[in-house]
Amino acid sequence: MKVFKFGGASVKDAAAVKNVAAIINQHADDDLWIVISAMGKTTNYLERVLSAYWRDAEGKEAHYKRFMDFHKEIVNELFPFSEELVLKEINVKFKELEKKLLQLDKSDYDKTYDQVVSTGEWLATKIVSAYLDDRGVNNTWLDAREIILTDASHREATVDWENTKGRVKRTWQNELKSRSIMASRRMITQGFIGSDGKATTTLGREGSDFSAGILAWCTDADEVVIWKDVSGMLNADPKYYPDAVKLDSISYREAIELSYFGASVIHPKTIKPLQNKGIPLRVKSFIDHESTGTLISSNSEKDGQVPSYIFKSDQVLISISPEDFSFIMEEGMTRVFTLMRAHKMRANLMQNSALSFSLCVDHKEERVKALTESLSKEYRVLYNEDVSLLTIRHYDEATLAKLLKGREVLVEQRSRQTARFVVRGQFDLAT
Ligand code: ASP
Ligand code: MG
Repeated sequence: MKVFKFGGASVKDAAAVKNVAAIINQHADDDLWIVISAMGKTTNYLERVLSAYWRDAEGKEAHYKRFMDFHKEIVNELFPFSEELVLKEINVKFKELEKKLLQLDKSDYDKTYDQVVSTGEWLATKIVSAYLDDRGVNNTWLDAREIILTDASHREATVDWENTKGRVKRTWQNELKSRSIMASRRMITQGFIGSDGKATTTLGREGSDFSAGILAWCTDADEVVIWKDVSGMLNADPKYYPDAVKLDSISYREAIELSYFGASVIHPKTIKPLQNKGIPLRVKSFIDHESTGTLISSNSEKDGQVPSYIFKSDQVLISISPEDFSFIMEEGMTRVFTLMRAHKMRANLMQNSALSFSLCVDHKEERVKALTESLSKEYRVLYNEDVSLLTIRHYDEATLAKLLKGREVLVEQRSRQTARFVVRGQFDLAT
C-alpha cells in the first residue's frame, strides 16, 4: 500500500485534475491512500474571503462568488455531460459555507477559520473522486474528519496518534471487506484537516504533506509519494539560484534539517512519522511522471554530496540586552521564549553573548511589533529590518565568498555542516 499526496498545484484546473487521474490510473496495481489539498491557491483565497466577511468589507460577496465560480468552472470542464450531478452536491456545500459566513461565529477566530478554510480540501477531493468515478476508476471518498483525530488547538492541531491509527485501521479493514480483491483499492481523502470530535481542525498551513505522513504511519505504508510541480527536492530555490540541481537521495535527518532551515519543499512535520517506521518518501514531478524524483530514506550516503542553499528574505534581526549588566542567560532566555510563544513567533536563528541575545524572525509586521513592544518593557531592544538569512548546508569557502560578495554580514554562525549568515538587504530574484 502506498500513500500519494497531491498538492494544490497538481489540481489547479481541469487539465491538472485529468493529469492526476492519469497518474492514479497508471498505478492500477497499487492499493492507494490518496491525500489531496485544496485546488490551486484556494486556501489563500478562502483566507481572504473569511477576512472580508470578518471585517464586513465591501465586496465580500463578490469574493465569495469568485471562489464558487472557480470550482464550478472546473466542474463544467471536467463533466461536460454530467456536471449537474456533481454540482448538486457541491452546491449544498457552498450554501452551507455561505450560511457560516453570514452568521460568523466571532467568538473564536481560529476555530471559525478551520470551519471555513477546510472547505477547499473538501471540494478538491469531491471533484477528483467524482472525476475518477466518471472515468471508471473505482475509489472511495473519505471525510478526513472521521479518521484524523486531533486536540482542539485550531489552525495548528496536535494529532491524537493512537486513536487516529485505530480509526484508519478500521476504515481500511472495512474497505478491504467491501471491495473485490481483484481490484486495487483507492481511498481519497483531504489533507490538512482533521477533527477534535466536535469541530473541524486544521494541521497548519501546507499541512497536507503531514496528513500523508500520518496516514502512512497509521497504515504501515510501503512508500509515500508527494507529487509536485518540481522534479524533486532541489538544492536551492531556483527563484534565487538558477543553477539549482535535484537531490537524488537524502536521509530523513538531512530532510528535517533542510526544512528546519527553511527549505519549503515538504512540510517539516512530515518526516518524523515516516522516519519512525522507516517508510521511504519520494518527492516526484506530476509533470514528468517517469523521472525518479528525490528519495528520502534512512540512507545518508549522499547527504553531503551537493551543497544546499536556503534563502530567507524579509527577516528582522532583533537584539535584546538587559538594561543593567545582568546576564541574559537562564531566566532571561526563558522569558524571551515565553514572550515569543505568546506572540506566535519562531526564531529562524538565535545567537547570544553574555549580555545580549539576537533573534532572526520572519517580518510579520503586526507580530514583530507586538513582540518588540513586550520585550521593550523589560529589555533594551534594537532591531534591523530589511535583512535576509542565508543557510548553506555542506558549504565550501569558494561558494560562500561568491554568495556573500558585496554583502554586509550582521551575524555569522558556522558548524561543520552548516554556515548561516544574516545579511543586510534582500536577495535578488533570478530572472
Ligand atoms: N491547502 C492547505 C494550504 O494551502 C494545505 C496544503 O496545501 O498542504 O495550506
Ligand atoms: Mg494548499
